[in-house]
Amino acid sequence: MSSVDTIIRSAPGESCTPELAQGPWTFDLGTPGYGPGASMGDVIPTGSPRQGQLPTEYQQASNDELHARIRAAKATLGDRVVVLGHFYQRDEVVQHADFLGDSFQLANAAQTVPNAEAIVFCGVHFMAETADILAQPGQSVILPNLAAGCSMADMADIDSVEEAWEQLTEIYGTEPDADGRVPIIPVTYMNSSAALKGFCGRHGGIVCTSSNAATVLEWAFERGQRVLFFPDQHLGRNTAKAMGVPLERMPMWNPRKPLGGNDVAGIEDARVILWHGFCSVHKRFNVAQIEKARAEHPGVRVIVHPECPMEVVDAADEAGSTDYIRKAVAAAAEPTTFAIGTEVNMVNRLAAEFPQHEIFCLDPVVCPCSTMYRIHPGYLAWVLEELVAGRVINQITVADDVAEPARIALERMLAAKP
Ligand code: SF4
Repeated sequence: MSSVDTIIRSAPGESCTPELAQGPWTFDLGTPGYGPGASMGDVIPTGSPRQGQLPTEYQQASNDELHARIRAAKATLGDRVVVLGHFYQRDEVVQHADFLGDSFQLANAAQTVPNAEAIVFCGVHFMAETADILAQPGQSVILPNLAAGCSMADMADIDSVEEAWEQLTEIYGTEPDADGRVPIIPVTYMNSSAALKGFCGRHGGIVCTSSNAATVLEWAFERGQRVLFFPDQHLGRNTAKAMGVPLERMPMWNPRKPLGGNDVAGIEDARVILWHGFCSVHKRFNVAQIEKARAEHPGVRVIVHPECPMEVVDAADEAGSTDYIRKAVAAAAEPTTFAIGTEVNMVNRLAAEFPQHEIFCLDPVVCPCSTMYRIHPGYLAWVLEELVAGRVINQITVADDVAEPARIALERMLAAKP
């Protein structure tokens, strides 16, 4: 099977935008943004990291040359470097990864190599931040392209969350109820900035992943009367709904509107307040795609990620994290047809890895996570060769006053048991 990169370069009409065929450096220096393929509705916050010019030699090198240089640099560095590749990363980069996984699996994998001086994270900004929070003292975390952000993570910034918290605390007060439960607990999805994880650590809150969201919500309901969940409304809604929370008790908080666009009665009655955030990749999936897959492939098993909208999750056969999807495919004993609703690089890799099954992406238009796609082999070669020369570039550092409470929120998640 051709990699997404090859499909986009050889047949741009089959991808969501032909601009993806260009090297990221053609737009990295321009107006800050998430790059081609991002939703028009995604607005990058001011102050987001910008990537400077990639040296020309890496822009002009052929793919073969870049791969040879990456391999040579890794061989020279040996155990001094570990390269992490996210499931959604393009194959051209993943082939050089020492570990492949979701963001939290990768942050944990980095902890298994405490002697590595540098962790090169081929993912997006919040993932590199989490790796830095969990890294050993003296380890540097490197993001090959600083413009690789996450539009969903950027939809909840610390100022807006602090402001929302102030308004909510004014309504709820701070006194616990008769059962000792505080009025509200903040829960942030792993896909959020370190500042938000730190916020949760400071306010008795917790982090969740798409694998453990239900366990974490239970943890929060044991300690709080209600939850403020950010930044992904869909993961929050899908998880809370499956736990029996009625939709009318899950108001949305739009940070651009007074009281998040709600009235006081609605906020008082809330069980889960959902931040107005979403993933542009998973928002692309819809019920019509599922109906088409069922019509064309009778008996198809439809599995979608819980970042998809509620009606898509309801229409699918199953919903689960990237880890769940991988395990479900791997565990299928009989040849099965799978229609998967998650990022296309991961789906294509599953199809190549499990040829006994027919596996395809629910969205017929090839559109990768455009932010993760900013990590091109040219950037990977550059940061590795700089390390060989003794220079750490594109380092992601989380200040101690943020990292410390963020670590507390992450530790609460690790200690939460189903
Ligand atoms: S797939 Fe969505 S949530 Fe994940 S990094 Fe890309 S934009 Fe962010």
